[in-house]
Amino acid sequence: MKKLFPTATAGSLPKPSWIAEPEKLWSPWKLEGQELLDGKQDALRVSLQEQKDTDIVSDGEQTRQHFVTTFIEHLDGVDFEKRETVKIRDRYEASVPTVIGPVSRPKSVFVEDAKFLRSQTDKPIKWALPGPMTMVDTLYDAHYKSREKLAWEFAGLLNQEAKELEAAGVNIIQFDEPAFNVFFDEVKEWGIKCLERAIEGLKCETAVHICYGYGIKANTDWKKTLGNEWRQYEELFPQLQKSNIDIISLECHNSHVPIELIELVRGKKVMVGAIDVASDKVETPEEVAETIRKALQYVDADKLLPCTNCGMAPLARHVARGKLDALAAGAEIVRKELAEKAKA
Ligand SMILES: [Zn+2]
Repeated sequence: MKKLFPTATAGSLPKPSWIAEPEKLWSPWKLEGQELLDGKQDALRVSLQEQKDTDIVSDGEQTRQHFVTTFIEHLDGVDFEKRETVKIRDRYEASVPTVIGPVSRPKSVFVEDAKFLRSQTDKPIKWALPGPMTMVDTLYDAHYKSREKLAWEFAGLLNQEAKELEAAGVNIIQFDEPAFNVFFDEVKEWGIKCLERAIEGLKCETAVHICYGYGIKANTDWKKTLGNEWRQYEELFPQLQKSNIDIISLECHNSHVPIELIELVRGKKVMVGAIDVASDKVETPEEVAETIRKALQYVDADKLLPCTNCGMAPLARHVARGKLDALAAGAEIVRKELAEKAKA
């Protein structure tokens, strides 16, 4: 029988301090040239070790500086010298690169890293790519002058990358779309359609990660304005349920998302966020188990994947490690409970 509740992480893990400054987003590399290449592979080895009790492993984003910009850096048509200040997710200002011409992907971005990770583990690998809408939202567009047009272009490039990752042995390809929680009209008009374009023709499983962001101040301040009930998911779930995406990754623990909203995506696999990435407090296994039990009311047991709410890149390494241990132990508690019930 297949193991119930395979655990996973949403994506990033803290980087070792010898490769980049810890507890920081967009942290610059400390090595260069061949040393950096070797350092990235060592960091991938370490991140697999950190995920020794995680059933579905990722690269922990050890080879990229940022989940969106690293992919964009490899595209033609984007000028990283020409920067403009935009409001990301309608929330915080950031200096971002500019789209100056037709975008294209001259060569694969992550495929060599994925091949290396594949050579180091027999576990299923999940690989995260930025979603088309979130990419558009992290740029200034001086060429297409249309968020939708640019998103369709990105969806095509992501599809090329995803196909190569699949061929390299990646089992699940995930698209990170935190922008889905902000721009509901666009999500309905073209956001989900672009996502389906990005997964066209893939045979591996596909996932979309929709969260309330990393535990950085701009996000925690924004969350304070959302009130007692966060019903954002309600806007997108009905359409997402009908989409071709296999897995939906959500923020649940310590969020104000009414858990019953998950019913709206019944039939999909759900990566249930049972680890708060905006707090240094390490969850107890029992807290993780409680989140899984609550979600089980709305997700079939064979479709529930306990997970982190979001990436853990900004956390201290010992905190992230503690949280991964709690995730594994919490999933095991509920597995045992169900096995006992089945016997009774
Ligand atoms: Zn996230």
